[in-house]
Amino acid sequence: MRRLKLPVNQNSQSLVTSAATKLRRAVFLDRDGVINRALERESKPYPPRSLDEFEILPGVAAACEKLKRGGYLLVVATNQPDVGRGTMAKELVETIHAEMCRQLPIDRVEVCFHPGQGKSACDCRKPKPGMLLRAARELGIDLKESWMVGDRWRDVDCGHAAGCRTIFIDRGYAEELRQKPHFSAGNLAKAADIILHGPQNR
Ligand SMILES: [Mg+2]
Ligand SMILES: [Zn+2]
Repeated sequence: MRRLKLPVNQNSQSLVTSAATKLRRAVFLDRDGVINRALERESKPYPPRSLDEFEILPGVAAACEKLKRGGYLLVVATNQPDVGRGTMAKELVETIHAEMCRQLPIDRVEVCFHPGQGKSACDCRKPKPGMLLRAARELGIDLKESWMVGDRWRDVDCGHAAGCRTIFIDRGYAEELRQKPHFSAGNLAKAADIILHGPQNR
């Protein structure tokens, strides 16, 4: 007797439905000053200008592992306007990101290369939420159940704009916050504790 063949192709409607019912949680991570050491000049942070200057901060790998075990996707969202301004090669940024993803369990990297400074309008340069919205759409992320962790006002405001909870890593830069973050923490390890265990267990 011939066996009935089960359909192997799901139609697109059922794919959409299954994605909608299984939204995931994410932690969106700013890069410079959160994952790696930012170079500082006059109390302002700058990105590494070579692979040698890219140094992952102590405790970051362990914090990423914990967040992954806790069921969070890890999505890096970084402004790299020097590329759009023509003062840094895109290839260097991509080399740095390959190394970052080799060392850390990052699920996705979103980069805004646009120059800002009124030279271009884009929907991805933080504080705009475009990078978070795109990752959420493509990975099926529930933004309300997700977090944005960053060390500048642009990160905090971006997290708010996307509807995430926000954690500010205070590096003492000469820069004021604009909106208030939900929480502050000294580093990513402390931020991971807040995300996984609540603010009382910092
Ligand atoms: Mg930063
Ligand atoms: Zn952009």
